[in-house]
Amino acid sequence: MISFDVDEKLAQQLERVRTLGREFLRPLGIEADRKGEAIPADHPFFETAWRLGIGRLGPEEDEEERPRSGERTAARRGVVLGEELAYWDRGAAVALPGPGLGAPPIRRMGTPEQRERFFAPFRDPSRPRWGAFAMTEPGAGSDVAAIRTLARKEGDAWVLDGAKTFISNAIRAEWIVVWATVDPSAGRAGHRAFVVEKGTPGLEDMRAEHKMGLVAYESASFTLRHCRVPAENLLGGERYYESRAGFKGAMESFNATRPMVAAMAVGIARAAYDAAREFAREHFLLSRPLPRHRRVAEKLARMARKIEAARLLCWRAASLADAERPNQVEASMAKAFAPAIAQEAAGLAVEVMAEAGVRQDHYVEKLYRDVKAMDIVEGTGQIQRIVVARRLLGYPASG
Ligand SMILES: Cc1cc2nc3c(=O)[nH]c(=O)nc-3n(C[C@H](O)[C@H](O)[C@H](O)COP(=O)(O)OP(=O)(O)OC[C@H]3O[C@@H](n4cnc5c(N)ncnc54)[C@H](O)[C@@H]3O)c2cc1C
Repeated sequence: MISFDVDEKLAQQLERVRTLGREFLRPLGIEADRKGEAIPADHPFFETAWRLGIGRLGPEEDEEERPRSGERTAARRGVVLGEELAYWDRGAAVALPGPGLGAPPIRRMGTPEQRERFFAPFRDPSRPRWGAFAMTEPGAGSDVAAIRTLARKEGDAWVLDGAKTFISNAIRAEWIVVWATVDPSAGRAGHRAFVVEKGTPGLEDMRAEHKMGLVAYESASFTLRHCRVPAENLLGGERYYESRAGFKGAMESFNATRPMVAAMAVGIARAAYDAAREFAREHFLLSRPLPRHRRVAEKLARMARKIEAARLLCWRAASLADAERPNQVEASMAKAFAPAIAQEAAGLAVEVMAEAGVRQDHYVEKLYRDVKAMDIVEGTGQIQRIVVARRLLGYPASG
């Protein structure tokens, strides 16, 4: 059963996100978009957000992830809050400080010592910090098994050589969870995850890529050139990888984060829908003849229907995650569906608003550019559809 109850704690968190979104995320997202640059890491907003505890891990954080008693609700909270954050501005939301996509592999694969060491900076209230997750390479995106970044053991360290691309928040990150292979011919069995800390010699050529939307956070590419990483930064330690656990760790991370990314697409769709609905109310309801109004109403109804359906898929995938039950098919269904309907909603909003919809002083023009990447991040819609189909036909998810 999925519970649709919003408890008091979640209601308060939602209210805080709404205030933060209205006052900061949307204006900062628009400003970054106009300037064509990510919100700088030293922006005073991040200091304030960090002081308020946004992105910062509290002492009870692990307790919330894995409560000693009662129901686990972290994934469902994640999709509800993720939708709301992205409603105000998905780019600015991803720019918020915190361990980001680096957190799930550390939580799932890290030893207690590693979890303590790598999460410690995220409990320190003195200044905001970011984490990052680096899987994608210039020649390996959807086919994650094809990564070529090489990891070689040398004494008490691992030496990494390779390149990563389009890594969110990597330039400002305290550490990056970098996926590499000890043997490219071994496919997934060769994968290892390393925590590469800021300033490690050999972590080079950091550069921000320019993208069509979601400008408020940086997408960075970098090189690993004889980058020596201490042996104790291999996530989980060597024994963890004696089975196929390494690759499984990566895939489990995605199953944890995909419902949240899908929910963020729902947030973008809702923002497009609200803008179109407000515009229609103001411009059509009283002044235009009914036939035209009816078509507009149909478009709005289509958006509302699909937003609701996409949200339910996200909630279903998240509630399975909270129940610690397999959710790969449901997470992929949500990730395949939500960004597609968000693209449709952004397109319909532009259609309803016509010339106003393409004008840069209306938010939907930005949403139209922001939304496309949602189908690409965390595995493309096409790949999710393949994963679902393989599972429905009884094949393993990949291979
Ligand atoms: C804004 C943004 C942020 C990102 N952040 C991160 C990050 O923080 N960390 C990270 O590691 N990566 C990140 N990425 C990278 C992202 O995960 C990849 O872009 C994505 O996995 C797709 O890989 P690719 O771009 O190499 O496309 P490709 O894999 O080359 O795919 C190209 C096209 O071919 C299709 N295709 C590929 N294989 C198949 C197949 N077998 N059958 C049918 N069709 C197929 C794809 O669906 C796609 O349409 C980010 C990307 C974006 C756009």
